[in-house]
Amino acid sequence: MRILVIFCCILSTALSRKLFTGDQVLRITASSDAQLFLLQQTYEQERDLQVKTPPHHTSLSNSLDLWREPVRGSRVMDLHVPLASLQQVKAFLEANGIQYEIMIADVQALLEEERADMERSQQRERDTGSFDYASYHTLEEIYAWMDSLVAENPDLVSKITIGQTYEKRPIHVLKFSTGVGRPAIWLDTGIHAREWITPATGIWTAKKASSSPCMIVTEYGRDPSVTALLNKMDIFFEIVVNPDGYAFTHTSTYRGPFAHSESEVKSIVDFILGHGNFKAMITIHSYSQMLMYPYGYTDTPAPNADELHALTKRAVDALESLHGTKYTFGSMISTIYPASGTTADWGYKNGLRYSFTFELRDTGRYGFLLPANQIIPTAQETWLALMTLMEHVRDHPY
Ligand SMILES: [Zn+2]
Repeated sequence: MRILVIFCCILSTALSRKLFTGDQVLRITASSDAQLFLLQQTYEQERDLQVKTPPHHTSLSNSLDLWREPVRGSRVMDLHVPLASLQQVKAFLEANGIQYEIMIADVQALLEEERADMERSQQRERDTGSFDYASYHTLEEIYAWMDSLVAENPDLVSKITIGQTYEKRPIHVLKFSTGVGRPAIWLDTGIHAREWITPATGIWTAKKASSSPCMIVTEYGRDPSVTALLNKMDIFFEIVVNPDGYAFTHTSTYRGPFAHSESEVKSIVDFILGHGNFKAMITIHSYSQMLMYPYGYTDTPAPNADELHALTKRAVDALESLHGTKYTFGSMISTIYPASGTTADWGYKNGLRYSFTFELRDTGRYGFLLPANQIIPTAQETWLALMTLMEHVRDHPY
């Protein structure tokens, strides 16, 4: 099995330059629950046929890949269809009278734009000042940037290695702290490998590019709100939760579906429980433009649901104020769909009364292939929401 995995990686790297030529992402809108059921059933049958290969390589070449499931109250799904299946899928939809539109006409073309961008930025970067925050980066670049950030800010930032991945990569967490024994806030990005915008937002958040007035490192001692936060609490920030998956998507330019890997999630759980004084947990995904609080697994409201609802409303209002980006918000089950085993529910059940999940830009124009020129606007607006949440946590000790 292991050899097969390695072989697949080599093969996919070799093929990567043209792997997605002609692939499309379709936005499919079912007009009835019966149509929706037919779609879901057909998709699952197709997927089951493909699961014979190792799980995180299933969508490597010829398989359908559901980018976005229908959220609560809608019958819309986004489906990545490889070129080889395109005619068949469209014929199926048309035969069943199911509406669709082409969301992305050529997946490879978008990937190539981003690759060119990354290659340009790689030539310029030496420290965190010259790092290109408006570009996507490889895992090696992100890890080198972390070391620079720590070296440049030794009194504020440290790096903690909380575990190792299946492929033996270190899992790092950045700790922002100005004192000992303080309560803490957890932030994480990059748990799903293809959600590239999330670690990119995380990097900007940890140290902002020159022009915008808010960033953890740059603003400590300058922005009164950031200073007050870090004088009272620590922030732990895991920027790449799934390093194996992230590295894989960059070597192959493929963004496949990666399940939460066992060792990565166990490292977080052990770290948070071992620390024992976390007050908030904020997990950042893409895409859909949503901010959600527990629960995801039940309709029963969380005990402080009213507080969380008012708080997330303020956070999305702050976010929208910058670039007009509209978010939906609410409990996870009412906003997206019933989901068990979410990080926010886990945090909440373990006593973190402030647990949140973001889904960043966009709502489907580009989906997971958000152009790099949206990284900084996304990070800027997200920062306003994050500060709203973190200030509330700071001011409501428990
Ligand atoms: Zn995700």
